[in-house]
Amino acid sequence: MIPPGSTIGILGGGQLGRMTAQAAASLGYRTVVLTPETDSPASQVTSQTIVAGYEDRAALQQLADLCDVVTYEFENIPLDGVTWLADHVPVHPSPRVLKICQDRLREKDFVSRLGIATTRYRAVTSFAALADTVGDIGRPVVLKSTRMGYDGKGQATIRDETDLGVAWRQMGAAIGIVERFVDFAYEASVIVARNADGTAQCFVPVENRHANHILSETHVPAPMTPDVAAAAEAIALKIAEALELIGLLAVEMFVLPDGQLMVNELAPRPHNSGHWTLDACVTSQFEQLVRAITGLPLGSTERLADAVMENLIGDEIDKWPEIAADPRAKLHLYGKAEARPGRKMGHVTRLYPRPHQT
Ligand code: AMP
Repeated sequence: MIPPGSTIGILGGGQLGRMTAQAAASLGYRTVVLTPETDSPASQVTSQTIVAGYEDRAALQQLADLCDVVTYEFENIPLDGVTWLADHVPVHPSPRVLKICQDRLREKDFVSRLGIATTRYRAVTSFAALADTVGDIGRPVVLKSTRMGYDGKGQATIRDETDLGVAWRQMGAAIGIVERFVDFAYEASVIVARNADGTAQCFVPVENRHANHILSETHVPAPMTPDVAAAAEAIALKIAEALELIGLLAVEMFVLPDGQLMVNELAPRPHNSGHWTLDACVTSQFEQLVRAITGLPLGSTERLADAVMENLIGDEIDKWPEIAADPRAKLHLYGKAEARPGRKMGHVTRLYPRPHQT
């Protein structure tokens, strides 16, 4: 057990790191953030920031020396640095988990080997092979880069009329994954935390609505029957167990009209679709991460209210005065100076006494 008073390292200085550092502070931990950015959202609330690249060995050494345990707030960190770090200080989730979740192909292979449904998919390693692969899977498909994609970046939907050359260039990578397009009823996610002793806890499945490929709203709970909700949680628990996860994992899923679930993506870190837990649960996702990686007992994930979380993206941040004037709106701002299009500036959660229908 790593007791309160110890120091947690966080790779990444964004809002997820910020809210993790805030949760850590509430439990009496210090945090050190490593980020290439000066005045990052996380560095505004942490006791110390190391401003350096993620592959800077001297900076990683400094982090290892200062910290009792290290975690990360995004999965696109160079694996080499994290693997090196894990030889010097405990890193959770492990580099093995990071390696699987960094690569869409490895991730889908891992999930399907567990007998969990995904959409039909196939790797494509050259433009020359794209036409055949798309033919095998059958249009419409989504072509995605296997690495570094997020918020719809590195993706192209290929419909009957789509030119393959245009799609390949839009994907912008040398290797991709072709996925059968899923005609889903809605998208959902389950966030699971797991401890070193194998105890695991899920937050209730939620519905995620996107605009321009970016999460726009999370509705809690997802409009699922109890059977489907139980199946969604069972999937998340099975994946966490198979990964031997220590920490937090978000499992993104498609929910088909008949209630069938298909796993789309894994994120081994706090997730935007879990921000509502800050205001509506006994334990937030951020506190749960801190508990999991320090070996404290996990907290209760009980939901005290239904909720709708709305992201404030780009100039939507200009609405903050009116949100702040609503005494029941829980406003969270990330301390980012400049509002660029697509940039997550904050979020607002509104709570509804249970039961609540949306
Ligand atoms: P991802 O980066 O994989 O989370 O994809 C971003 C968004 O694109 C998802 O949240 C979906 O809205 C959409 N999407 C991704 N893959 C598929 C698919 N195979 N079929 C339909 N929509 C998809």
